[in-house]
Amino acid sequence: MAKVAVYPGSFDPMTLGHLDILTRASKLFDRVIMAVAQQSSGKRPLFTIEERLRLIRDNVTHLPNVSVEAFSGLTVAFAQSHQASVIIRGLRAVSDFEYEFKMYQMNMHLNPEIETVFMMAGPEYHFLSSSMVKEVALLGGDVTGLVPPSIGESLAKTSSQMLSTPQKDT
Ligand code: ADP
Repeated sequence: MAKVAVYPGSFDPMTLGHLDILTRASKLFDRVIMAVAQQSSGKRPLFTIEERLRLIRDNVTHLPNVSVEAFSGLTVAFAQSHQASVIIRGLRAVSDFEYEFKMYQMNMHLNPEIETVFMMAGPEYHFLSSSMVKEVALLGGDVTGLVPPSIGESLAKTSSQMLSTPQKDT
């Protein structure tokens, strides 16, 4: 039977760190579904779900066994409904560990049939996060080498639109 894995996350936006994990996972499993969370608790996305899906799809066309889908609700439920038996998560610095360990235990509790596989971030991506990339882009910094070029362009465009739109005082 084909081994299907789900790689869940907000991917707001996808960085080269995410792409590195995805590429390596695509060599380990028959199929990998990148599951893009529509909403993530406590996070207000910069890119809409449609934008995030498009930006990812445009950059994974060279990976034939990878598909990209939006999801909401429990990751284990999404995995089960797609006949996936594995959840992939990337680990960067030690600071990721506690949160990921809690998440792993909860997912195990919810569905013991679905295994979580942790993959270590490539050394050049250990300190790379979507939030850091967004912050740099919003401050006008260069994100070359951190995200695929088309995502860098979208970040620059979205950031300059945000800067030119007067923000309401709260
Ligand atoms: P979430 O909101 O679920 O944390 P993210 O989009 O931030 O989603 O991350 C999705 C997954 O990718 C997580 O497992 C996260 O640890 C991993 N990840 C994030 N940044 C990197 C990186 N630079 N290298 C490798 N893995 C990463």
